[in-house]
Amino acid sequence: MSLMQEKIVRDEDLDTEAAIFNIQRYSTEDGPGIRTTVFMKGCPLRCPWCQNPEGLNKEPSLVWYSIRCIAALECVKACKEGALNLTSDGMLIDRKKCTKCGKCVEACPSGALELVGKTYAIDELLDEILKDRVFYDKSGGGVTFGGGEPVMQTGFLEKILPELKCKGIHVAIDTCGALPWKYFKRIIKYVDLFLYDLKLLDEEGFKKLGGSLGLVLDNAKRISRHEIPMWVRTPIIPGYTDNEENIKHISEFIYKNIPTAERYDLLAFNNMCKSKYERLNMEWKLKDSHLVETEKMEGLKMVAEDVGLDNVRWSGLTKVEAD
Ligand code: SF4
Ligand code: SF4
Repeated sequence: MSLMQEKIVRDEDLDTEAAIFNIQRYSTEDGPGIRTTVFMKGCPLRCPWCQNPEGLNKEPSLVWYSIRCIAALECVKACKEGALNLTSDGMLIDRKKCTKCGKCVEACPSGALELVGKTYAIDELLDEILKDRVFYDKSGGGVTFGGGEPVMQTGFLEKILPELKCKGIHVAIDTCGALPWKYFKRIIKYVDLFLYDLKLLDEEGFKKLGGSLGLVLDNAKRISRHEIPMWVRTPIIPGYTDNEENIKHISEFIYKNIPTAERYDLLAFNNMCKSKYERLNMEWKLKDSHLVETEKMEGLKMVAEDVGLDNVRWSGLTKVEAD
């Protein structure tokens, strides 16, 4: 066996496990019916509005809960890398030094530190998913793989999706689309529905998220050519995606290029992930942003309908509901 062949075999072996940061049961927002949503770690993009910062990297993420901290400093003593420093502004975690060894988590007497992210083997995850089979069968639901970006872990999906299909479970993939087609190609025949993000139709703006808009648009067209149903989604983010021109361009793209789009969802921004950023000691750029007004969501929906889309919906907390 050549060195290259050996490496490929090793990589394939590694794909029998997935890095997952949450399994959410009884979800009704991530596809039809009642679903289990599996949140997989790792994402090629860095959207400033990301609601799941703990899912950005594939490795476990160390988080600190200020409310549980009793300043015992056992964690600081346990950390041989010198990565922790408890200050009056909270716990400073030097992520360049942190090796995710978990010693601080074990040492903390009040459970104030946690490593978010767990590795699942295929059978282990299948067992978790199948626990709710009765709900899928009764409601027309199934399982949704989201994240982060699930297609970052194609090798694992390529192994678990056929198992789910054999058992008659409906499979949805919630994707940002910003990965080369070769990864989608490996799993597409096992997917019943794509929840597909079209965030910005501006090449320069999209580049700032860390990806190529051309790739996202091309993948969307290819998925549709495979006749897979799609629910296209745009997060409505103040100052980024919430202008009429953006929604008009996205709607025109859907109208012309995605005949399998069953619906177009506009998802209103909220600030609920603020505490996640605090726990991760990361900057939340939208901390001062407000909820979008109900009127604005209605207006954007009309923009999409005027282009010719006939199943446009919006959801999420808005200013009127919150006041
Ligand atoms: S996980 Fe390990 S290296 Fe990271 S802060 Fe905790 S003790 Fe230090
Ligand atoms: S694509 Fe989704 S998971 Fe990735 S950074 Fe953007 S919002 Fe977060």
